Amino acid sequence: MAYDVVVIGSGPGGYVCAIKAAQLGLKVAVVEKNATFGGTCLNIGCIPSKALLHASEMLAEAQHSFDALGVEVGTPKMNLKKMMAHKDATVAANVTGVSFLFKKNKIESFQGTGKVLGAGKVGVTGADGKSQEIETKNIVIATGSDVAGIPGVDVAFDEKVIISSTGGLSLEKVPGHLVVVGGGVIGLELGSVWARLGAKVTVVEYLDSILGGMDGDVAKQFQRMLAKQGFEFKLGSKVTGVAKAKKGATVTFEPVKGGAAETIEADVVLVATGRKPYTEGLGLKEAGVEMDERGRVKTDGHLRTNVAGIYAIGDVVAGPMLAHKAEDEGVAVAEITAGQAGHVNYDVIPGVVYTSPEVASVGKTEEELKKAGIAYKAGKFPFTANGRARAMLHTDGFVKVLADKDSDKVLGVHIVGFGAGEMIHEAAVLMEFGGSSEDLGRTCHAHPTMSEAVKEAALATFFKPIHM
Ligand SMILES: Cc1cc2nc3c(=O)[nH]c(=O)nc-3n(C[C@H](O)[C@H](O)[C@H](O)COP(=O)(O)OP(=O)(O)OC[C@H]3O[C@@H](n4cnc5c(N)ncnc54)[C@H](O)[C@@H]3O)c2cc1C
Repeated sequence: MAYDVVVIGSGPGGYVCAIKAAQLGLKVAVVEKNATFGGTCLNIGCIPSKALLHASEMLAEAQHSFDALGVEVGTPKMNLKKMMAHKDATVAANVTGVSFLFKKNKIESFQGTGKVLGAGKVGVTGADGKSQEIETKNIVIATGSDVAGIPGVDVAFDEKVIISSTGGLSLEKVPGHLVVVGGGVIGLELGSVWARLGAKVTVVEYLDSILGGMDGDVAKQFQRMLAKQGFEFKLGSKVTGVAKAKKGATVTFEPVKGGAAETIEADVVLVATGRKPYTEGLGLKEAGVEMDERGRVKTDGHLRTNVAGIYAIGDVVAGPMLAHKAEDEGVAVAEITAGQAGHVNYDVIPGVVYTSPEVASVGKTEEELKKAGIAYKAGKFPFTANGRARAMLHTDGFVKVLADKDSDKVLGVHIVGFGAGEMIHEAAVLMEFGGSSEDLGRTCHAHPTMSEAVKEAALATFFKPIHM
């Protein structure tokens, strides 16, 4: 056998799996069809979007907050070309970082499209059409996901006027009116970027709320905050057509509950309705690998497919389509192939929306607890009562802690507020250890920090907050 593990796909699932397996002493190769490593996340996802979110947030801060802080910088101006250059440089640094880590860990790479030829055999076809076969004890499918489109609607993406998230990361000018189809994380993040840079943003969403699946309380408050920033929302609206017009495009939608259709004009339409697993050309059917009803590779609790020696991780399998979930699954599979007990705790996977303010959550929402019939108590604390938040003019939002009514074990934490994406991790660690709201509330927190609001929300859960 030439290799112990061959990973197909070098996104956060695949590259982390490869590195971990190599660290555990296995002989590892990665097959990647793109010119660069890092997958969706590093090339056209998490990393470039965060570069643009940060840059545009700095502009908005300079425009709207500096004066109140006594900082006078004249009229801040956007330089879109420089912003895009910053984004491109950030991507380049990250993808070359993965190449460096592959070399450091003696991981071999094959550039080309990988195909599963059966247990222990992977075919690789390069851009020149030449194919080769590699033998391995274990195969890890980490081929990720692709843009989903709108069910039942023919969307002709040109990535200039009718765009997916990929086009939304590279527009050459700020659209006058950006219509975003889909009020999920990606739509709201990219909508925020272009709204801060001057676009009017309208979000058309099928559900009655944005951020479907997140805590209802959080989603409602967050929608109000975005509305204050100028976002317009058409909720409970089913998009039935996206068409290119002489100038820009049109989006037609009708109320989900029934009623007259409406058509709005846009300079650019961003379709952000989710992603679908990517398994094209992988030869899974021929290799006998089972898929589920949604086209995802079917795996058991140990990320094994039905074919011995073939595993699958990340966006191509069930679960939240998040980079860190893919990474943790990559680590688990590497450990399993090395004879260890790899494991992912799906109950403690944080989710973050990197807008302003940020939204972050881990564990169960109130809606999920109600549905499951679990008796719970909730404690809430607003950032308006937090000293550090006042000092930074970031008083929007709150922390909510949900704990089991009898045992006080923390079941979920939800935060809307500046820096929520960093604060959520103390809740994640607490929950990994099965901690209670009293554990969290009795843990000394540095003053003055935004994190004190997490402590206060915990105090509010098992007794009373001090500062309210
Ligand atoms: C705009 C945007 C923003 C996002 N922001 C965040 C965020 O902030 N945080 C977060 O957690 N998640 C975010 N995500 C989601 C995140 O990018 C994905 O969850 C993550 O990339 C999934 O990792 P993966 O390893 O499963 O697959 P991917 O990252 O999709 O990587 C799959 C790789 O496999 C390769 N491949 C596919 N088929 C083959 C084949 N046959 N042979 C060889 N190679 C192949 C692909 O070229 C690709 O490089 C974002 C996504 C988008 C689109």
